[in-house]
Amino acid sequence: MDQPGVEIRPLRQMTGSSEFNEVFFDGARTAKTNALGPVGEGWKVAMATLGFERGTAFLSSQLAFEGEYAELLEIAHKNGATADAALRDELARSYAGLQVMKYNGMRMLTNLVRRGDVGPEASIGKLFWTTWHKSFGETAMRVLGADALTVERAQGREYELDPQHYIFMASRAETIYAGASEIQKNIIGERVLGLPREPR
Ligand SMILES: Cc1cc2nc3c(=O)[nH]c(=O)nc-3n(C[C@H](O)[C@H](O)[C@H](O)COP(=O)(O)OP(=O)(O)OC[C@H]3O[C@@H](n4cnc5c(N)ncnc54)[C@H](O)[C@@H]3O)c2cc1C
Repeated sequence: MDQPGVEIRPLRQMTGSSEFNEVFFDGARTAKTNALGPVGEGWKVAMATLGFERGTAFLSSQLAFEGEYAELLEIAHKNGATADAALRDELARSYAGLQVMKYNGMRMLTNLVRRGDVGPEASIGKLFWTTWHKSFGETAMRVLGADALTVERAQGREYELDPQHYIFMASRAETIYAGASEIQKNIIGERVLGLPREPR
């Protein structure tokens, strides 16, 4: 990362932090021993890596989501949001989604053990969890009510986000990174359902 020809430009997010960068390779050279797979076939390596990113890399996120759900439920009980039937319904739907993710995760792990790869099911998982998390973030804002509109001032930073604010904002990017939802739908259509390929 420190050699000439590698330039890193941080991207400032609406959460206020910069966890992601644009990385430019311009005439960067490396030793042949560092090559992953055959020279000139990096695309295959990148695609396999992305399959794992969509699949197993996010499996553990579900445990974090369970924690986020439990915390939101506690807030909803405390601030009286559970008295609202529509919000109760949203929370119940969120819980059902958590169970769907759990079983799809097990299906991917079974693929991994049986076949050695996570398979196109990784795209089903990615499409599902990102859509779920985005809608969960919106539910979180409705549970917070008026508190969703305010943030604390922070030392050395412009503002401090509550975990629920962070979920709401950060989840907007999840349906874009690691392949946008539309791309996941293409993969599911072509490789899972065997539909005709997208016109090129
Ligand atoms: C917060 C964040 C973190 C990221 N982190 C990384 C990272 O660590 N490493 C990395 O390499 N990249 C990272 N990315 C980049 C991310 O992978 C891309 O933004 C994403 O794959 C979408 O590509 P794009 O931005 O070029 O959009 P485009 O591909 O130009 O897409 C634009 C729009 O057109 C739609 N679209 C594009 N092609 C099709 C198609 N064939 N059919 C139907 N619709 C289509 C897309 O869904 C989207 O709505 C990150 C992005 C974000 C937002």
